[in-house]
Formats: sequence, structure tokens, C-alpha cells
Amino acid sequence: MACQQVSGECAMSYCPTCGTYMLYPEHHTCPPQWEAQDPDERADDDWTVVHAHDGEGAAVKYAERADDRSGEGPHERTVLVREMGSTDAKHFVITWEYSVDYYANEVTT
Ligand SMILES: [Zn+2]
Repeated sequence: MACQQVSGECAMSYCPTCGTYMLYPEHHTCPPQWEAQDPDERADDDWTVVHAHDGEGAAVKYAERADDRSGEGPHERTVLVREMGSTDAKHFVITWEYSVDYYANEVTT
């Protein structure tokens, strides 16, 4: 599926359809669509559409979007992913942690 290019948003180089950063917007094609949900938070038929190259990528993208970025330390989330229109979902456990790096550079005058 090709992206619709909305005038004004092209300068950002982020695809308005799939959210991918486009290095070459004229050559960009959106990755396939997947349906994802967290079975602990959602009803059975409440799926979110995400664009990704594979099921694993779709699960990560869903977890990133669902994360409210509160709290620290390792986190874990269960995500079900299925191909659009499929009833056969794959089960992923997503783990992530926040990190903040500090760097010091001595400045001499
Ligand atoms: Zn796209």
C-alpha cells in the first residue's frame, strides 16, 4: 500500500499512514497491517491496527504505543498479534526497560 502524501506533512518525512521515518519518501511503501491487542486489557474483539514487517515487530509497536511511560525498571506485557482478517493469533511477551544515559565532557577555557 502506497502512502498518501499530505502536503505540509511531507517535510516531516514521517509516513502519515504507518508512522515510519521515510529516508526516501518517493520510494516508501507501508509495511503490512497487523492486528494486535493486550488480552489483559482488551475485550476479545478489540484489536488495534499496526504496521510492521512481521508479527514480532507488530507486537513491539503495539507495546510502545500502549506504554504510558510511567514507572521505571523492567516491564512486561503480553501481546497477541494476528494477520489482518486472520483468527489465528500469535502470542508474544514483550519486555522492555527504561534507561537514561549521562555523559560528561570536560570543557576547558
Ligand atoms: Zn507508510
